[in-house]
Amino acid sequence: MTTRRTFIKTTAKLGLIPLFPVSMLSQGDDAKKITTDDPVAKALRYIEDATQAARSDKMGVTAADQLCSNCQFYTVSTSDAALGPCMLFQNRLVVGAGWCAGWVPKR
Ligand code: SF4
Repeated sequence: MTTRRTFIKTTAKLGLIPLFPVSMLSQGDDAKKITTDDPVAKALRYIEDATQAARSDKMGVTAADQLCSNCQFYTVSTSDAALGPCMLFQNRLVVGAGWCAGWVPKR
């Protein structure tokens, strides 16, 4: 007999159930999501994992604390959103845990 737990474990191993929140996007969200190979994203050194970015302290905020989710240009109202529109990228979607050189603290 297959229990619900066994079913979830098995399908997760097979990659049938996305475990990362960003992957729960609709196809429409994927289409709007900025990619790191976009010319503007490259120019601003956008990266989806801020911990991998060469950041430095800015405007009184330590480098480690700079994320898209707490950037002035990130327009999602909750700071823990996995994905949200960025004004600097014409409201295309960026990853909340990401970062780019245009980062400024949310006021
Ligand atoms: S401007 Fe801010 S929200 Fe937009 S990609 Fe850069 S760090 Fe993220």
